[in-house]
Amino acid sequence: MTMLTPNAQRLLRALVMNGPAYRADLARTLDVSRATVTNLTSRLQADGWIEEPDHEPGLLKNLIGTSPRLGVLGSIMFLVDTCTVTLSGLDGRLLGEFTLLGSSGTSAADRMAAGADLVDRLMAEHDLPASSLRALHLAVDTQMDARSGDIYAQRASSRWFGVNPMEYFATRLGVPVYVQNSARLEGLAEYLWGTGRGHSNMLYVEVSYGVTSGHIAGGIIQSGARGGAGELGHTVYDWNGPLCTCGNAGCLMQYVSIPAVLRDYETATGVRVDWADFCALVTAEDGTATSLAKRAATVLGRILVNTCHVLDPEVVVISGQIALSLPSFVDDVATTIREHALPLVGRNVEVLRSQLADLHTATARAGIDSLRAIDEVVTAVTTI
Ligand SMILES: [Zn+2]
Repeated sequence: MTMLTPNAQRLLRALVMNGPAYRADLARTLDVSRATVTNLTSRLQADGWIEEPDHEPGLLKNLIGTSPRLGVLGSIMFLVDTCTVTLSGLDGRLLGEFTLLGSSGTSAADRMAAGADLVDRLMAEHDLPASSLRALHLAVDTQMDARSGDIYAQRASSRWFGVNPMEYFATRLGVPVYVQNSARLEGLAEYLWGTGRGHSNMLYVEVSYGVTSGHIAGGIIQSGARGGAGELGHTVYDWNGPLCTCGNAGCLMQYVSIPAVLRDYETATGVRVDWADFCALVTAEDGTATSLAKRAATVLGRILVNTCHVLDPEVVVISGQIALSLPSFVDDVATTIREHALPLVGRNVEVLRSQLADLHTATARAGIDSLRAIDEVVTAVTTI
C-alpha cells in the first residue's frame, strides 16, 4: 500500500463529493488524461479504496465508487415519534436504512440510546467495523445550537431538554457529528429530489402542527450562525395576538397550524372537531371552515411577502398536512404573495406544493448528502 498521490486524493474527493463516476467523467473532472485515470483507479482498486459497484465483466464502461473500506457515513434523524438511520458509502451509495417507531413520551436519553444502537446494528449487519464510520449527520426536531449542541430551554424544546445530542453521539460513536434541524433537512430533501429539483434557490415551508421553514441556496441549507434560522412559525404576525408556546404573542403558528385552525373553528361554532373532520367540512364547503382555511392561507401569504422581500427565493415550496389536505391552500398563499410583494419578487417567485411521498427516508438520506458537501468531512475521509 502506498501513500496517496495528490491526483489520487483528488480522484477520491471527486467520488465523495459527486458520487460514483465513469473513468471518462473523472478524467474531465480532474483535467487529466484517461490513461492517468486508468492508472490511478488501478492502483486505488488494488489497495481496496475504490470499487466497481456494478461490475460487468467484459464491459469497458464501469462506474467507479468508493469502497466501504475507505469509510462510511451515517445519518440519524429524529422526528416526534420516529428515529431513522441511514448508512452510506462515502460516495453516497446507500448501504442500509431503518426507521424505529417509538412513542412521543419516550425520554430523550432513551431515544438517543435507541438511535445509537440502531447505528451499531446496521454497521454489524453490513460487516462494517465501528472504525469505518467516519462522520455522522444528526437531525433533531428542536432548536439546537449547531456549534455546541446545546438545546435551549423553552417549552417548545421540552422533549429534548437536559441532554446534548451532539455530544452524546460524538462520544458514543467516536466520530465528528454535524447537526441540523429536522425540518430544515426535510427542505433539503425536497430541494434534491422533490419540487425543488432544477431550482437553485428555494424557500421550503412546512405547515402542520407548527410552521417551519428552510432556505436552501446552491445546495446548502442556510441555517444561520448557530442553526437558528428558519423559525417561521415564531415570526410575529400580530403582537397583540394569541399567546404562543414561545412566550410571545401573535406568532404565525397561532393562526396557521392545525391546533390554531381547530381552536378557531371551535371558538366560532362551539363544536370541537379533529383535523379529518375539518378537512371534510372544507370539502363540503362549510362556510366557517372554508373561511378559516382561506384566512390561514392569507396570513401565511402575508408573512411570506416579508420573507420573500428578504430572501428573494426562486421558488417557495409548501409542504405539511395543511398544504397537502386543503385543496386551494397553496394557490391562495401564492395569490397573496403575488398581490402584495414588490414586482421583482412577486412576479417571478413560483409557489408550489411539495412532492416527496416518503419524506422520512429522503430526509435521512439528505443528511448523508449534507456531509458530502462539507469540505472538512471530504478532506478527513480522503486523507489516508
Ligand atoms: Zn411563538
